[in-house]
Amino acid sequence: MRQPIVAGNWKMNELTEEAVDLAAEVMRRLDRSSSAEVVLCPPFTALRAVGDTIRSGPLKLGAQNVHWESKGAYTGEISPPMLRDLSCDYVIVGHSERRAYFHESDENVLRKVEAILAAGLRPIVCVGETLEQREEKRTEEVVRVQVENGLRGVGDRLRDAVIAYEPVWAIGTGMTATPDQVQQAHVFIRGVVGEMAGEAVAETVRIQYGGSVKPSNAEELFALPDVDGGLIGGAALKADSFVAIVNAAR
Ligand code: PEP
Repeated sequence: MRQPIVAGNWKMNELTEEAVDLAAEVMRRLDRSSSAEVVLCPPFTALRAVGDTIRSGPLKLGAQNVHWESKGAYTGEISPPMLRDLSCDYVIVGHSERRAYFHESDENVLRKVEAILAAGLRPIVCVGETLEQREEKRTEEVVRVQVENGLRGVGDRLRDAVIAYEPVWAIGTGMTATPDQVQQAHVFIRGVVGEMAGEAVAETVRIQYGGSVKPSNAEELFALPDVDGGLIGGAALKADSFVAIVNAAR
């Protein structure tokens, strides 16, 4: 049995006070019997304050990006040990917004994944096709390249990674992939992981769905056999909708 994981990606939103309020509200509303692992990923500037806010509860802390070096002359960057120092557990890597706006390549993703694991953190590795690629029936080819190149040589340590299948056309658009499309993509990704690291790892690795998940569609998506929770953007910025989504992951 894989424990579902629901992570809120707050992106570049919330000043410290707002972030603390949101985290506290999520904590207050969260059903303590929830079987899902729940991760809040605020911007870097709010990591310390949100970490302090959730310290006494079951919520985990995640960052939205990291550099692969642990220290040095990399102006403006944040390293895995620095995130560890802030009590982070998870780091999102390869989000489509970072791939599109900041030229994050699969090679960058792999270096980050290696550094994250070496620091004792866990990566949430995002993969997914654009609308054009789906229409050209290249979804599997694109996702295979992202998984193979972004996780090359990680082997057994893939057990500590989470993969987020996020079709780019579904992110922030209100267009959700259909349950069939989601299940098919997740089975495909699990198969690629199996080829790379063996069946046992493939059965263990958690694969989240992300892309316009909301309270009204979460239950149907999370009930799919190969969907192990979700990576939530817009709906994670309101405590009531985020907690309703968490409650759908049972
Ligand atoms: C995301 O940015 O990872 C995401 C899934 O966003 P949204 O839920 O807003 O589509």
